[in-house]
Amino acid sequence: MNLKEMDEEYILHSYKKNYINFKRGENALLFDEDGKDYVDFTSGIGVVSVGHANAKLSSALCEQAGKVIHVSNLYLIEPQAKLAKKLVQTSGYDMRLFFANSGAEANEGAIKIARKYGEVDGEVKRYKIITLKNSFHGRTITSLKATGQEKMHSFFGPYPDGFVYADSLDDVIDKCGEKTVAVMIELIQGEGGVEPQDKQKVQKLQNELKKRDILLIVDEVQTGIYRTGELFASNLYEIEPDVITMAKGLGGGIPIGAVMTRLKDIFSYGDHGSTFGGNYLSCTAGNSVLEILENYKNSGALDEMMLYFSKKIEEIAEKFSEKIDKAVGIGFMRGFRMKSSEDLSRVIEKAFLHRVLVLKAGRNTLRFLPPLTITKEEVEMGFERLESAFKDIL
Ligand SMILES: *Cc1c(COP(=O)(O)O)cnc(C)c1O
Repeated sequence: MNLKEMDEEYILHSYKKNYINFKRGENALLFDEDGKDYVDFTSGIGVVSVGHANAKLSSALCEQAGKVIHVSNLYLIEPQAKLAKKLVQTSGYDMRLFFANSGAEANEGAIKIARKYGEVDGEVKRYKIITLKNSFHGRTITSLKATGQEKMHSFFGPYPDGFVYADSLDDVIDKCGEKTVAVMIELIQGEGGVEPQDKQKVQKLQNELKKRDILLIVDEVQTGIYRTGELFASNLYEIEPDVITMAKGLGGGIPIGAVMTRLKDIFSYGDHGSTFGGNYLSCTAGNSVLEILENYKNSGALDEMMLYFSKKIEEIAEKFSEKIDKAVGIGFMRGFRMKSSEDLSRVIEKAFLHRVLVLKAGRNTLRFLPPLTITKEEVEMGFERLESAFKDIL
């Protein structure tokens, strides 16, 4: 039995995958069994924020793994307290954190916070949460129901009650009722097609919600951890959400998620928990990633590379305007809005043959989520290959 057969035989078929066996990586490059290099414009869907085989991250992990990996949240966990302090201080938000293991779980925590906030004297007074059409909030039953894409809701009901979908930011206030306790949004929709929200509209919404005592939850699972150039996209949008969730880029590949809130005393003992959440290994990863990225940001290199990447995609969008409607996104969360879905599928297939890895997202979008530490040479190499892929479909 070869690997592909083994995978097909023993793994549930929930992913359509490329049967390629990457043996090692080096920043934005991956190498297969034959030593062939691939330029990784996906970073494992926004996860490998500091690149593959980052020497600082891997030595921090090896050192910690040799001491203690896990003790549970019944005891102090030094890297967890330090990571929380770092996230609070760098973001500038007066908040506390709860650590989990994934984005969906972080969002579950946010939803629990909102539901508890809506209780008065032990009675549920407000419980409805408004989310947006084309949003993505995760795959657990509750975060899936929070996801405003009806096509994803087949098969798995009945779902928890209380999610209301608004067509756009403009429609949110109209959807607010007396049972509404929170609004949950992505500042840049990722899976939904790399669609940034308008800054003024977000700020206006925040003010309206404050007046109504409705919480603003910002799902930063994809936009967080310098993906847009700032620690959080909320920093970039100059807002102060009530709740922020994060995950993908925080651990550089080690599973970790977190929910952060200004409601510092919302939970009492026993209200929420996680066996694995915030353990030594994942929080050591988080601390190492933040140290690397903070230095990179402060050196000016992150902004410089984001600008370079931006120019590059504008150039290519122009060059292949027959196929590409426009370049979209912010920072290292970018894409091409394609003119047709057939072209999108074809170009992704061709890109793989030319050994550059890219992603697909909603709204006919070819998506880029490169490692934040990608170099000029890697960007050049990736786009040369992508141009070949576009030439193939002309
Ligand atoms: C990826 C993603 C999630 C889900 O994260 P998982 O770690 O896969 O559970 C939730 N929200 C957003 C915005 C995401 O991009």
